[in-house]
Amino acid sequence: MNVPLLDLKAQYQSIKTEIDPVVAEIMESQYFILGPKVKECEEAVAAYSNCSHAIGVSSGTDALLIALMAEGIGAGDEVITTPYTFFATVGSIVRTGATPVFVDIDPVSFNIDPLAIEEKVTDMTKAIIPVHLYGQMADMDPIIEIARKNGIAVIEDGAQAIGAERNGQRAGSVGDYGCFSFFPSKNLGAFGDGGMVVTNDPERAERLEILRAHGSRPKYYHTVIGGNFRLDALQAAVVTVKLSHLDSWTAGRQSNAQRYDRLLGETGLVEKGLVSLPTVIANRHIFNQYVIRVDRRDELRDYLKENSIGCEIYYPVPLHIQECFSYLGLSKGDMPESEKAADTTLALPVYPELSDEQAKYVVDTIASFMS
Ligand SMILES: *Cc1c(COP(=O)(O)O)cnc(C)c1O
Repeated sequence: MNVPLLDLKAQYQSIKTEIDPVVAEIMESQYFILGPKVKECEEAVAAYSNCSHAIGVSSGTDALLIALMAEGIGAGDEVITTPYTFFATVGSIVRTGATPVFVDIDPVSFNIDPLAIEEKVTDMTKAIIPVHLYGQMADMDPIIEIARKNGIAVIEDGAQAIGAERNGQRAGSVGDYGCFSFFPSKNLGAFGDGGMVVTNDPERAERLEILRAHGSRPKYYHTVIGGNFRLDALQAAVVTVKLSHLDSWTAGRQSNAQRYDRLLGETGLVEKGLVSLPTVIANRHIFNQYVIRVDRRDELRDYLKENSIGCEIYYPVPLHIQECFSYLGLSKGDMPESEKAADTTLALPVYPELSDEQAKYVVDTIASFMS
């Protein structure tokens, strides 16, 4: 049996009759950049995220960058975030000229530890970027409290968490900005790169819109320096069609996660402490990834791959010890929980189309490795 980490061909086959006519329509119109399809997508994602405004952008990375730019963040400023995330979270901070300040993760949720944030706040802190890793929201209430008290902005990195909820609040609607990615492997993926920033603040929305097109308003008059951060019509149209299926795909991921919990539990490996299951804390975890912890992680990964099972390590090197950030002067031992997670976590296939037999095969293969 073959179990890929993700099966986008199966997803496309299930919505081909809806997608293909929309793509053909765009080809006929030759209207590719922004325009009515992007507006429609923005309205749909804003509503889905419980936000009043959404600005379609070129990627999740650019969503983070443009949000930082809209806050006027640059050289001399500090931005607090987690080292246990995809590179873009921190890459965007550094590209503005600001300095990333790392706070270690909570080992249960894998998200930034809110109790360790306040001691890192200085006069130079301008923003906090919590990341909703694997599809589960960070503990936002204490983060918002610290931010309000200190007059700093909150930019949610929701690239893995569109539609996730915590205490009845949707990802992206809690902070000053929510950033989403439509990279194909995300839960709501386009047919290329794309992203979106959501906000409930009309003034921030306007700044984002101006920055998205080189800071131009009116056209060819520039009061600020922006960039080309535009979303294109094709990606927007694909995302709009897929959004109508997202809740059922999420339900599929959630039931796959529950099935893994049950099947892995039945092997006895969890009881023996050989496998740790993901913990659902927030009340709507959308399972962009189903991540277990094991001790001989690299060996298990190789064994699964030998048995045609897709799996991945998100992420093998925490960002505070990446070579490109060595100028920050941090080293191994500074963020122990992130480092431990990087050594022990493994993501298993959890995509909605995963069958019962495939899930059983994954669990049987893990059990045979452990025995
Ligand atoms: C994917 C991802 C991004 C970047 O999104 P792109 O669309 O690939 O640029 C940022 N942050 C996190 C946590 C991500 O998973």
